[in-house]
Amino acid sequence: MDRNWKRATICVEGGYEPGNGEPRILPIYQSTTYKYTSSEELAALFDLKTPGHMYTRISNPTVECVEKKVAALEGGTGAMMTSSGQAASLISVLNIASSGDNFLMMGNLYGGTTNLFLVTMKRMGIEARVVNASMSNEEILSCIDDRTRLFFGETIANPSLEIFDFDRFVPLMHSRGIPVIIDNTFATPILCRPFRFGADIVIHSTTKYMDGHASVVGGMIVDGGRFDWKAGGKYPELTTPDESYHGVIYTETFGDQAYITKARTQLMRDLGSTPQPIAAFLLNLGLETLDLRIRRHSSNALRVAEYLSSRTDVIESVSYPGLPSSPEHAKAMKYLEDGMASGVVSFSMKGGREKAMKFMDSLHLASIVVHVADARTSVLNPASTTHRQLSDEMLREAGIDPGFVRFSVGIEDADDIIKDIEEALSCL
Ligand SMILES: *Cc1c(COP(=O)(O)O)cnc(C)c1O
Repeated sequence: MDRNWKRATICVEGGYEPGNGEPRILPIYQSTTYKYTSSEELAALFDLKTPGHMYTRISNPTVECVEKKVAALEGGTGAMMTSSGQAASLISVLNIASSGDNFLMMGNLYGGTTNLFLVTMKRMGIEARVVNASMSNEEILSCIDDRTRLFFGETIANPSLEIFDFDRFVPLMHSRGIPVIIDNTFATPILCRPFRFGADIVIHSTTKYMDGHASVVGGMIVDGGRFDWKAGGKYPELTTPDESYHGVIYTETFGDQAYITKARTQLMRDLGSTPQPIAAFLLNLGLETLDLRIRRHSSNALRVAEYLSSRTDVIESVSYPGLPSSPEHAKAMKYLEDGMASGVVSFSMKGGREKAMKFMDSLHLASIVVHVADARTSVLNPASTTHRQLSDEMLREAGIDPGFVRFSVGIEDADDIIKDIEEALSCL
């Protein structure tokens, strides 16, 4: 792979380079296991002395090619694909935090991540401490103690669409020797490369724009390779011998791939949230058009957001970081490629839950689904679906307006999407 390739080229050509007479398209290696000619060779693999595939729970040639493509897109030193975005979030934290440790999380993370961190991880003895952008630096720093292992944020938060302020949080965390993990799902590496802004680890739910066709659940962890795990003496799991691999020390043997190698050889080995080779193959097909698609999602979403903003008769407020009137716009211009703000637009209907449901039921092109961020325009009202057990008062306390609609703009013709919205609004 040419190191200077631009991202659109990496999307198509990266990760897999066929040799003479080999298949032009990435083959699906549907094999759990790999043959070696001597026990000695296999033993060297088990000691992590030579690279190679042992067993598909840990690595597989099809999956590896897609990992290389995503690592190149993000500008990282290595990547590991997981069976879901949830598994990527879980492993990214467990790799450097154990029972008794704590970490900081932004309060606006995806609901599934929030539940994993605040409920399930708590049961594992790992405490997530919630911080947010409205807190002062002093307040945030006061949440840190000598057991604080990492900071976790989202580039474009799902669904509040707040943009992560890298220039504020990254130096703040690094001043305390704490690595920053960023969920880059909504931005994708086409719109934002968090490593450029100092982040240390990037994770993805590839289920969303990377796959882009709503066909496969998957995740990815990418190592930025620059965090100094040795400096504060806080990460002995990376800097002292691992007895399960005959005393290997990850930082010494694997250098700028210490984090991602440990994630694979310890956690993927033990937890087994392995992607199937076919899942990697399908993800690869999606990635080939990612650069094209995310630009179209962004330009369509901007047009939809502009249209919705003009309908003050029925719409209370519109939130889209690409709108110049958005409080997030300055950060969008700073951190997102050409200010392109991806495909999700949030808005609140006048008349609350009832009007939001009526509006959604009147749409024809846009479909009601529990999913976002794929080629087809889709729509969700949390008050009547994911949060339906809550009363209007409870919803407001949770920061969710009953008339809140999450609109995931697809790559159809923007004229047709806007016409669909216009007709649905006229049914109210
Ligand atoms: C969907 C999502 C996840 C979880 O990913 P799955 O692939 O559904 O497990 C994590 N983060 C964000 C931002 C998401 O949108």
